[in-house]
Amino acid sequence: MDIAKKEHEIIEVSPDTDKVMCDGGHHVFGHPAVFYSFDEKNEVICQYCNRKFIK
Ligand SMILES: [Zn+2]
Repeated sequence: MDIAKKEHEIIEVSPDTDKVMCDGGHHVFGHPAVFYSFDEKNEVICQYCNRKFIK
């Protein structure tokens, strides 16, 4: 049995994006849709699936 290692997937979004929506995007690791705002940062990390959104 393999222990699934969760890679930190990185998603690049366009520089004028204020908000990202993440729902896991995967049938195994999917989660309820959540929205993250970049505020003053250039990256946000989804607290459900650890995906990193970078602009
Ligand atoms: Zn997510």
